[in-house]
This record gives sequence, C-alpha cells and structure tokens, in this order.
Amino acid sequence: MKRIMSLLAFLLMSWVNLSQLQANTLPYEKLFTNDRLRIDLIFCGNAQQEDVYLAGYQHESIWSGPKTGLVEPYGYGNYVYELYLGETCVFSKGFNSLFQEWTTTAEAQTVDKAMTTSLWIPYPKTELRLVVYRRSSQDGLLYSLFETTIDPNSKLIRHGAQQNWPIYTVQEKGDPENHVDLVFVAEGYSKDDMEKFRADCHRFAENLFAMAPYDQHRDDFNIWAVEAVSEESGTDLPHQDIWKQTVLNTHFYTFYSDRYLTVPDQTLAASLAANVPCDALYVIVNTDIYGGGGIYNYYGLSMSDGKYSAEVFVHEFGHSFANLGDEYYDNSVTYEEFFNARIEPHVPNLTSLVNFESKWKDMLPENCPVPTPQVPENEGKLGVYEGGGYMARGLYRPWMDCRMKTNRAPAYCPVCQRAIVRMIEHYTR
Ligand SMILES: [Zn+2]
Repeated sequence: MKRIMSLLAFLLMSWVNLSQLQANTLPYEKLFTNDRLRIDLIFCGNAQQEDVYLAGYQHESIWSGPKTGLVEPYGYGNYVYELYLGETCVFSKGFNSLFQEWTTTAEAQTVDKAMTTSLWIPYPKTELRLVVYRRSSQDGLLYSLFETTIDPNSKLIRHGAQQNWPIYTVQEKGDPENHVDLVFVAEGYSKDDMEKFRADCHRFAENLFAMAPYDQHRDDFNIWAVEAVSEESGTDLPHQDIWKQTVLNTHFYTFYSDRYLTVPDQTLAASLAANVPCDALYVIVNTDIYGGGGIYNYYGLSMSDGKYSAEVFVHEFGHSFANLGDEYYDNSVTYEEFFNARIEPHVPNLTSLVNFESKWKDMLPENCPVPTPQVPENEGKLGVYEGGGYMARGLYRPWMDCRMKTNRAPAYCPVCQRAIVRMIEHYTR
C-alpha cells in the first residue's frame, strides 16, 4: 500500500511540475484582482494523524507579492499550497507551521491538538481549487491533505479588518509589487510604550541592514509597523506563572522549552496585517528576556531588548523569510526527529548528502573533502561539516559557525546569504 501511495505521489508530483510549466504563461490580471484573500484553516491531529478544516475567508488589502512567477520554484516547506484553474496550477507557495513542529514533540504521541494557520493568496476573479499538501517525513514527497473550491463571490467572505490599528511607515522604498514588504507587529506594548515600539522598529531595521546580504538590499524593502496596543507590557512566562494581557497572547515555554517564544494563534497574528502590504510578518515582543522563533512563511518573532536582540532577530528572520534551517545540533530543543537524514531536507543550508547537487555543491572549492574536518584552519571556509538541524550525525552544514548556528557568529554563511538573495529577488522581480 505504501509503495502504491509513493507511486501515486510521484505521479502527482510529476503532474504538478508539468502544470507549473503552463502556469507561468497565464497573466495575473486574468485570474486575480489587486487585493488579497486570507484563508483561515485549522490543523488538528497528533504525531500519526493530521486533518485540516476551513475556518473562513477574509478579504484584505493589496496583494504585495510578485505578479509573475506565481508558482514558487524553491520546493521549500513542510507544506505547500496550490491554486488550480482546471488542471493548471496557477499559484504555489511553501510554508511551515507551529502545528507541524508540535507533531515532532513527545507530547504529540499521546495528545490531540488543533492550531490555526492562515494562507495568503491574490484575490481570485474566478473559482479556483485550493489544495494543501503535506511533505511526508518518510519519503519527502508531497501528499494532498486538504482540498476546497474557493468562490470569490461568496457573500460569506468577510470584508473589513477586525482590528484597525494605526500603521507606521518605518521605510517606504517603492511599489509593494516589486519590493519585500516586511511588517513589524507590536506585541506587549501598552499605549504608553508606542513611542518605544517605533524606536524599536527603526533599531531592528538598522540591525537587519547592517548584515550581509541585506546591507546590499536596503532599497528592496518597505517596512511597515502595526501599532497594536496591549493592555499590559511584556509577555507570558507560564513556567514562572507570569501572565500578561497582550494583543497576541505570546508566551515563552512553548513545547515546555524556556526560551521558545511563540504566538499560539497564527490567524490572529496574520489578521493584524490585514490593512497593510505584507510579504513577511515579524512580531516584536516587548521584553528583554531571551527568546524567539521563526517559521517559514508563517511568522517570526523575538524579544525587543536584551544583549542578543539583534542577533536573535536576524536569526529568526532567516527562518521565517528564507526557510533557513538551524545549523546547531545541541540538546536545547524538544523535537524528537525534526529532520529525516534518509531524505534531503527542504531547507537550503542543510544537506543529508542524499541530493547534495540541489544544495551548495556548485559553490564548494575543488577537492574539498566531504565531510570537511572541523579544525580551526577551516574557520571561514565553505565545506560540508557534519552536525546541524538538531542532529550531531547525518546532517551537514556549510560553515563552521554561521548566524544560523550561534549568536557569536559575525554573519550568515555564503550559502545562507545566497538563499536570502534568491528570496529577495523572488519578491522584487
Ligand atoms: Zn548558514
């Protein structure tokens, strides 16, 4: 049965690829308006079983993503969502989710849970079929998880944002259509903290543009800030029984890990960006306690202050914007098996060597030994170093110490930088 499933998945994959070829020839204007549709979904299940349900639709402000090449070329993400007109794929995007992360924890072996995830698409002019695929951790192939037909004329698509917070412009460099629209959302900032929030946004922007490759791409970014007001300053620390009334209900101690800070309801986070162009959502949490998280095409977040706020922000943004994987492999996370070393991981900066050609093999110096010895002489040299993705064995990273590994690292490695540039180019074509 499993072999038949794999075969079916292979055929499906081939079909998806074939349709992608047709997709790029269809003009955006024929299929979509200039607006954005948010699709609210609920993912539920456990480590063995996963189901998806539709919770609703929201008509939002402008579509700020690319209007050509709507089918993403990267093959990133534990999930992919696609839109079909008949048999033709007209839009595709990968993403990760908090729910998927949770399914790799020990708790998911014995408990059932549900979590929200919202997907953004350009607003369709005609009925389109939405398919959400899940990547199998066993064979790396995509299996259909959820399907529905979107009727853009349905009277039940909500209009008007539920929360109308002021939008502050951190920097505006041009048309959202060919710029990366980064949205900072205030979390745990009271009314009296709003001036601090605006200053924090400028500091975060400067931290980003101080770092290669963003330093060469300042003019490719618009940065908007949502001045969402919380009742109280700070965030929740469940393990210390500290609870704050905040707009996004962020908390540390996610999956019982002290430093893992998350927004439990992603739809709520997405809804705060309803009135603003948005390609990348980043929540700044008003605290100096060390922590954060970053999930590809989902959200990133981290603490506003403290010694490493700049390093953690740039690290988490690497996850949420460019699908970079963690290059560290200590025991500081609660995932049981986040990556399967028997298949090639979908992140650009880790390899299991199963399909190294698809990663940074083209960048390696000639005669570079694989694996590359982890000796001081190799500091600052591109290689294939064993250890990464929370695993000491079986996964390899490109650099001894990259921003995706430690806070001590001065920069992203060349492989991470290339992946970030490619993502910027995707939004600025
Ligand atoms: Zn790296």
